[in-house]
Amino acid sequence: MKIGVLALQGAVEEHLDAIRKIGAEGIQIKSKEQLEEIDGLILPGGESTAMRKLIDFHEMMPALQAFDKPILGTCAGVILLADHVESNETHIGGLKVWVRRNSFGRQIDSFSAPLEIVGFTSSYEAVFIRAPQMDEVGEDVEILASYNGRIVLVRQGNKIGCAFHPELTEDLRIMQMLKEMILQSKLAHPSNVL
Ligand code: GLN
Repeated sequence: MKIGVLALQGAVEEHLDAIRKIGAEGIQIKSKEQLEEIDGLILPGGESTAMRKLIDFHEMMPALQAFDKPILGTCAGVILLADHVESNETHIGGLKVWVRRNSFGRQIDSFSAPLEIVGFTSSYEAVFIRAPQMDEVGEDVEILASYNGRIVLVRQGNKIGCAFHPELTEDLRIMQMLKEMILQSKLAHPSNVL
């Protein structure tokens, strides 16, 4: 299984490590052609406006918008995926959520907190770094976790939107969720099996 990490800016290495730990091959994605070789994609944390500029510079936007295999957007990545971004334009889009940037304060306000996540049998310690929150979600979006009344983890079809940083903890359950989604999508579309 090959999982790509958009590697234009942000927390790329940490995701590649986490991908290795779930037994998949991690690939740094720097061009649109590379999107064809992977089974799933991670849009990492970082700075969404900087990432957007680099996506445009590398002419990757149409290919990212057309990518129909499983995607995990974390932190800045969920801002890229959101259909509505407060006080900003939509970037890649496709995830029916309204997102608000830096909703948990500034860098100094980074913290970790235990979350109850739908489908997990024990709580998950989530790391938040200048995290966004999702204010509202479309009807086919499943809310998997909230923190203090703010939506921080959702799933819509083969997309996961995550306001925190799953690559910064030893707990691999969010990464496993992506892996599971990729296995399901390969079963549904055998032609995608590499
Ligand atoms: N605040 C950043 C942004 O708006 C996201 C922070 C992160 O990815 N850790 O893009």
